[in-house]
Amino acid sequence: MKPFEELRSLLLVGSIILLTGCGGGASNAATNPTSTLTASLATLAALTPAETGTLLFVREEEKMARDVYLTLYDRWGLQVFQNIALRSEQQHMDSIKLLIDNLGLADPVVSDAVGSFTNPDIAALYAQLVNRGLVSLDEALAVGSFIEEFDINDLQEAIDEAMDGTNQLPVIQIYTNLMCGSRNHLRAFVGQIESTGDNYVAQVIDQQTVDLIADSSPEQCAQ
Ligand code: MN
Ligand code: MN
Repeated sequence: MKPFEELRSLLLVGSIILLTGCGGGASNAATNPTSTLTASLATLAALTPAETGTLLFVREEEKMARDVYLTLYDRWGLQVFQNIALRSEQQHMDSIKLLIDNLGLADPVVSDAVGSFTNPDIAALYAQLVNRGLVSLDEALAVGSFIEEFDINDLQEAIDEAMDGTNQLPVIQIYTNLMCGSRNHLRAFVGQIESTGDNYVAQVIDQQTVDLIADSSPEQCAQ
């Protein structure tokens, strides 16, 4: 493992412990991270160009996850795809939109239609993943796991970039919450794959990190 990958694994483990530790507690205005977030969104300062590019990318990346899962739900009727798309990826899209709106940026999602993207790389990835997921239910679940690993990897980079950049808590909190959701989704997809007796082989991040996530309990993620 390269030193950078080791650091990344440590960061992931750190977030797991942190989020597990604060899940399930009573909510009130003083401790609820969502209230704090809403209060501080209005005082966001402009992001660096790199941070802005990442934010706009993540907005469409979350839409891609939603749209792939809706498409695979239509084909296979497996409830996990619809649940994750509608209960989680839609919220992730909305959270990033809050940041985009508060920063006065142009939203790259110009149409909410399934499969509609501004970023050509995301459009190409969407087409490739849908093609793969339509081959078989096994491939559809592998696509789900790929997307979640891909998201975890990108979100860790986004968090690192934000901390090295304007270092604003609402931005870091939202990325952290999205990554928490991605770990739960990865658990769900890997759980389905391994329920048939297959061992899941990591596709984007290292196997050790994937196993650590898949073998740990679902987390309560802030919204
Ligand atoms: Mn997501
Ligand atoms: Mn997800």
